[in-house]
This record gives sequence, structure tokens and C-alpha cells, in this order.
Amino acid sequence: MEFIPHLQECKFNTCIHDHEPGCAVIQAVEKDLISIERYQSYLNLLNTIEDDMFY
Ligand SMILES: [Zn+2]
Repeated sequence: MEFIPHLQECKFNTCIHDHEPGCAVIQAVEKDLISIERYQSYLNLLNTIEDDMFY
């Protein structure tokens, strides 16, 4: 997905791109490199699956 080029740039390698400071994905959204609609759909997905997928 279009986040992938940005994922390696996050400040923290535990970043889930939700609210973390220094998150490259959030910065990319702010710069219109990633569509806000795509980011919001990611957050919705994250809310659904985060317990299974992370940590
Ligand atoms: Zn991030």
C-alpha cells in the first residue's frame, strides 16, 4: 500500500502511525503524499485488528 515508502522513516520502530510524534506517515498525510481518506481507512482497520497484528 502507499504507506510502505514512509514506514521506515518513523521515529519509533513501534510506531503504529496513529498519534506518535515523528511519525513519517502522519507527516506524509499532512503533505498530501498520502490521501487522508486512505489514512483514515488505515486507522479504522487498525482499530479492528491491532490486538492481533501488533506486539
Ligand atoms: Zn508512523
